[in-house]
Amino acid sequence: MNYWTVIPAAGQGKRMNAGISKQWIELLGKPVLAHTLDVFENDSNCEGVILVGSEKELQQMQDFVESFQYQKVRKIVPGGKERQQSVYEGLKVVPTDTDLVLIHDAARPFITHDSILQLVNTARDTGSAVLAVPVKDTVKRVIENQVEETIDRSSLWAVQTPQAFRLSIVMDAHRKADEESYIGTDDASLVERIGQTVAIVMGDYHNIKLTTSDDLLFGQAILLERQGEEA
Ligand code: C5P
Repeated sequence: MNYWTVIPAAGQGKRMNAGISKQWIELLGKPVLAHTLDVFENDSNCEGVILVGSEKELQQMQDFVESFQYQKVRKIVPGGKERQQSVYEGLKVVPTDTDLVLIHDAARPFITHDSILQLVNTARDTGSAVLAVPVKDTVKRVIENQVEETIDRSSLWAVQTPQAFRLSIVMDAHRKADEESYIGTDDASLVERIGQTVAIVMGDYHNIKLTTSDDLLFGQAILLERQGEEA
């Protein structure tokens, strides 16, 4: 099934302490954003990509898209202060006759075609689906350095992107959140808020979000392993 993708890439990535936004950091000689875009550019089911950049980086993003000759990046739009606002700006320019839209963080460059396919197939049937993996660590609720509670891990999942939605559903969810000045931690939480169910699709522990410099080491190891598999 065909889909469009919105890629929020308007964050500053302050936790990375790299002095540049994290999508420009190079992994094995290629910017993170290029690793991410390559996956969608090479997916025949992806009809188009909306890239969301910070106001001050729009020209840099335009130049980057031209130099890498991405055919599927149809629009580059300015984002907002919060990730949620950036996603909403991107969703607003997805063609209105689109059935399914994926939302995927620029900072998750290790997403695979296989995961996208499973996600799209589930969202086609259910309307909303997210990739997630079972939590491996024991999770505790802590207040002022004291454990309040150990949470039953068997029902805890760590949610990733892409998240896939019928366009009408996710637009309704974002519009309502915007009207009510509600900020959620992911797009699915806005969809849950309007009473829709969200299906979970088993993801992949390699689909990490690059957040701190430790993640770059792990990221390089993932890429080297994949290069070894291809060779
Ligand atoms: O900061 P965090 O890692 O949660 O950001 C996730 C994704 O959202 C990144 O790709 C980042 O560029 C994007 N983002 C955005 N607009 C913001 C903040 C983050 O597009 N205001």
